[in-house]
Amino acid sequence: MASYPDHVGTAQKLLEQQAEINQLRAEVERLTEITRRDTAGFEALGRENAALRAKLAKVSDIHSEFKIYDDCGHHTHDDDADTVIVDDLGEVCRSAYMYSICRECCAPGDSQTVDCVDSHDHSECWPCVTRATVDELPRESS
Ligand SMILES: [Zn+2]
Ligand SMILES: [Zn+2]
Ligand SMILES: [Zn+2]
Repeated sequence: MASYPDHVGTAQKLLEQQAEINQLRAEVERLTEITRRDTAGFEALGRENAALRAKLAKVSDIHSEFKIYDDCGHHTHDDDADTVIVDDLGEVCRSAYMYSICRECCAPGDSQTVDCVDSHDHSECWPCVTRATVDELPRESS
């Protein structure tokens, strides 16, 4: 039988191919597992990132700009001027704006603290250190 060795050769080849296929299958399974794990990892990272961003947004919200206006005595010159309502003064001219402070740090309860009025360098009141720090953080790229 001239073809007999060929059968052996063919069988050998098939076995080798089988081994190769098994190896490939193992590799695919390994990569699939890694991808699955990493996807979970990415999702966890994404959730962490979103939670962090939400926290930062809340901090940013709390440490918001609070504009300080001069008391223009508005009722004495009630004209068509653009006005704003301020807790401490009532209606004042928008043009009476003097400077800004942090609502959380210098005006809790929407009223400027005596400390801020008397002893703050207002160039440091807004943005406050907290808000400046949050604003300096890198934005999400997406
Ligand atoms: Zn006014
Ligand atoms: Zn602040
Ligand atoms: Zn202040």
